Amino acid sequence: MELALNLTCPACHAPAGKPCTQPTDRGRVSVSWFHHARADAAERGMQDFMLTFGVQYNEERHPRWPECNPKGWVRITAPDYEQARTIATERFGLDWSVLTPAWRFERRYFPAGELMALP
Ligand SMILES: [Zn+2]
Repeated sequence: MELALNLTCPACHAPAGKPCTQPTDRGRVSVSWFHHARADAAERGMQDFMLTFGVQYNEERHPRWPECNPKGWVRITAPDYEQARTIATERFGLDWSVLTPAWRFERRYFPAGELMALP
């Protein structure tokens, strides 16, 4: 897999796993290249990870983040899983549920979308 596919594109906002897109007369079309910002981040070894939260925060207030919504995710860009986990723990303590590499994250289960991007 092209490493750039592990990242959300900072330029066109194509999600991880999807090709970059470019505007045309008839709307945006997928392209076979990556925007420079995305390719550059991949070159630096960065990847996106998605952090989700337990359903109890539909009812309860999250201890460190009142805006927490279990129907959405926080995107963390880091060189590897361990560093993404450290960023998650520094921000949210252990009050989060699952950290998933973006390329295998199932967005359709999280209709509230991206809540925040870290760092
Ligand atoms: Zn792009």
